[in-house]
Amino acid sequence: MDFANCKRCGRIYRRIAGELVCPACRREEEELYQKVRDYVAEHRGATIMEVAEATGVDADLVLQFLREGRLAVVSGENMRYPCERCGREITTGRFCERCTAELARAFASPKPDQEQGKFHTRPGWSRRP
Ligand SMILES: [Zn+2]
Ligand SMILES: [Zn+2]
Repeated sequence: MDFANCKRCGRIYRRIAGELVCPACRREEEELYQKVRDYVAEHRGATIMEVAEATGVDADLVLQFLREGRLAVVSGENMRYPCERCGREITTGRFCERCTAELARAFASPKPDQEQGKFHTRPGWSRRP
């Protein structure tokens, strides 16, 4: 069995793939998420700070919802925060469009130095029987 520490309350819980918090915190987060989503849906154009103040939800958690893309449907132009890679202002997800494209490219093609490493360590190249 796989156990982990909840990143929110620190309690040890049985890990569920892709979850960083225990089921109790997940439930609590879900309630806060609905609160935030409802508020944002009614107040399009609100900023992260305004939403945090009005709902009583921590601004970091509002940011987390945005980064997870869960508020994409309702969030407006004013909910801006920095791209995790370059710091450009974005309104949904973790990276700006440019970084998303660059990251996709980086993952798609092998790095040049890896190719070179392969060449130098090719077996039998310098060894003779
Ligand atoms: Zn927890
Ligand atoms: Zn970026």
